[in-house]
Amino acid sequence: MVTTIELNKRQSEILQIVKQNGPITGEQIAERLHLTRATLRPDLAILTMAGFLDARPRVGYFYTGKSGTQLLTENLKKLYVKDFQSLPVVVNDNVSVYDAICHMFLEDVGTLFVVDQKSMLVGVLSRKDLLRASIGQQDLTSLPVNVIMTRMPNVTYCEKDDLLVNVASKLIDKQIDSLPVVRKVENGYEVFGRITKTNITKAFVSLSKDES
Ligand code: ADP
Repeated sequence: MVTTIELNKRQSEILQIVKQNGPITGEQIAERLHLTRATLRPDLAILTMAGFLDARPRVGYFYTGKSGTQLLTENLKKLYVKDFQSLPVVVNDNVSVYDAICHMFLEDVGTLFVVDQKSMLVGVLSRKDLLRASIGQQDLTSLPVNVIMTRMPNVTYCEKDDLLVNVASKLIDKQIDSLPVVRKVENGYEVFGRITKTNITKAFVSLSKDES
């Protein structure tokens, strides 16, 4: 069985007791384990929060019967862009490819978002976009980024209330490394965050550590 959290010995024992005897009160579980109710409280909280157990007032704890995969899916649907996004790194659409390369190195990112004079999203620059431009015969200091960027409306973006798992699907479908997190305003889209494969990886790791 795939589990989203690793249960310790006592949690496994509790789960076993509830599976066989539920619904059962916390007091009764404590008695069977020769422990106090207070000692068990954190373990019961973890098992309930993780979705293994459910508790009903005046009835007690019962086993939800959900598989580890079901629980993982439910937990995935609690992860939102706004909780994992990073700050975006942006450049103006009239800067040169040379300056964009310097900026990318200085900011240590793999993607730059390009904005116009009104700070509206107009394009995206990836590492390979810049590499491709660099192996040509062009003068990088006089080549503006808006000539080589992927431009709107072809930029894939997301919003802060989107589910992270949907953003992950877009990254896979479009074969890209990151998305700008935007807010729709009157004359376009304002960029205020970014989600990269690293953010998704961090969310993935957080699921395995999530005991709250
Ligand atoms: P790299 O090109 O360094 O492998 P990506 O895979 O992210 O990085 O980019 C691949 C191509 O997709 C590039 O031409 C880039 O401009 C474009 N791209 C990157 N991110 C986006 C996005 N969010 N929306 C649309 N196009 C994108």
